[in-house]
This record gives sequence, structure tokens and C-alpha cells, in this order.
Amino acid sequence: MWVSQGVDSALAGVLGLLIGSFLNVVIYRLPKMLERQWAADCAAIDGAAPEAPAEAFNLMVPHSRCPQCGHAIRWYENVPVLSYVVLRGRCSSCQTRISPRYPIVELVTGLLFAWCVWRMPGQWAALAWCGFSAALLTLALIDWDTTLLPDDITLPLLWAGLLAAILGFTGVNLTNAVLGAVAGYLSLWGIYWLFKLTTGKEGMGYGDFKLFAAFGAWFGWQALVPIILMASVIGVVVGIALKFNNGLREGGYVPFGPFLAGAGFTAMLFGADTILRVVGL
Ligand SMILES: [Zn+2]
Repeated sequence: MWVSQGVDSALAGVLGLLIGSFLNVVIYRLPKMLERQWAADCAAIDGAAPEAPAEAFNLMVPHSRCPQCGHAIRWYENVPVLSYVVLRGRCSSCQTRISPRYPIVELVTGLLFAWCVWRMPGQWAALAWCGFSAALLTLALIDWDTTLLPDDITLPLLWAGLLAAILGFTGVNLTNAVLGAVAGYLSLWGIYWLFKLTTGKEGMGYGDFKLFAAFGAWFGWQALVPIILMASVIGVVVGIALKFNNGLREGGYVPFGPFLAGAGFTAMLFGADTILRVVGL
């Protein structure tokens, strides 16, 4: 029992490494794809003549290249984590440093997948939570980089949460999942408008509402208060740390999505009730 559970978990970890490698591509390219799309839409509205079709740019093509020297990355230079270690974090052609974030994303995805299968051995639910983890990690990093939470990920995550409730993967009954999605969206939407009307500022974006709605679907409405508390705690801690390290970006704006994601991971790993106990409620 333990052995097969360990083997399954290790296999899931390897799958996670490979998926993590793909997530790196999504994190880097999806925002650029959306920008291109928006630029094309704006040009179309302005009535500009359609531009000559640009070189294809999506999740599959062009193949990965070194941003510095354009060296095409070969398959054996693209093995998750291992290649980074073997190449000592540098491009094999021009020796430019490669961000350690790539192997870290791969490793974290691998660990999350292994954890899901370890906790739910031989269950389809484990696969569902692997998908949840991959989507959440991608969203957190895209939001951190670009302050966007793309609908292309938040909305499928929301629908998947409702479907997972129907299939019994999350242990949340469908009523509580639907109520969670509705309450998740409306609560942040309400706070957003309250904040905007009283201060004239925008503290969040619509992507945050959709991500919170997705949490409502995956964890049930009961988990929303602990998750938002946890996200606020993480946000304050990270915000203070950035301030001391002068790491705040221009205008001092810190996206909320990564903290929401951190709270979502906490709820997945430890349970939403645990969050309440830790903060003493
Ligand atoms: Zn290079």
C-alpha cells in the first residue's frame, strides 16, 4: 500500500515537473498573446487597415529561444530542473543567466502534484486538485508579473470547481459550491465599489472577484472568510517586506491575486478550518 502510494506519488511528481515546464511557457506567453489580441482589436475598432499577419505566436510556436542571443533551446536543454542544474543556470551559447524562477516553478508544480496523489491515492479527485494547483500557480505568477488575472484561466477554474463538486471530487456539495461562487464574486465586487466610491481608488480588479468565486466553487462558501483573512495576512507581510527592501513597484501597487492564490494553496494543503484556528477564530 505505502509502496504503491509512493510510486504513484513519485510518478505524479515527474508529471508535475513536465507540466511545470509548460506552465513557464504559459506564464510568459499568455499575457503577450492577450496584448497582441487587444492591440489587434483596438486597431480593428479604429478602422485601421489590417496589418500584415505577424509571425505566429502562441503556446506552441515559436520554439523557446534564449532572449539574449536567440540560441534555440534544444530538447535536452529543456529537461525540467535537471537542465538548469547541468547548465548551472546559464545559456549554453552566450552564458547569460537564466532566471531561477523556471526550475522553481517546475519543482513546485512537481511537489504539488506529488502531494495531491499522496493525499488522495488512486482517486480521480487527485487529478482534479493537480489541475487546480497548476491553474493557481500560473495565475499567481501572471498577476505578479503583469497585474492581470486572465479570464482564460479564472473562468475555467470556476467551472471546473462546480463540475468537481458534482463529481464529488472536492467534498463540497453542489449547493455550497454554487453559493460559494456567487458569494465569492459578489463580496469582493461589493468591497471594490465601496472602496472606489469612498476613496476614488481601485484596490482590486475584476480578475480577483473571479478567482475568489472559483475558490468558493472549490472549497464551498464556508471557506471564503478564512481564505480572505489568510490572503490579507500574506498581503500585509509581503507588502511590509517589499517596502523594507524597496521592492515596491512604481505607485506602490501590489497585485492582490498572488496573495489570494497563496491563501488558496493554504486552504488546499491544510484546510480552511485550520486557517481559522491559526488566526484564533
Ligand atoms: Zn543565450
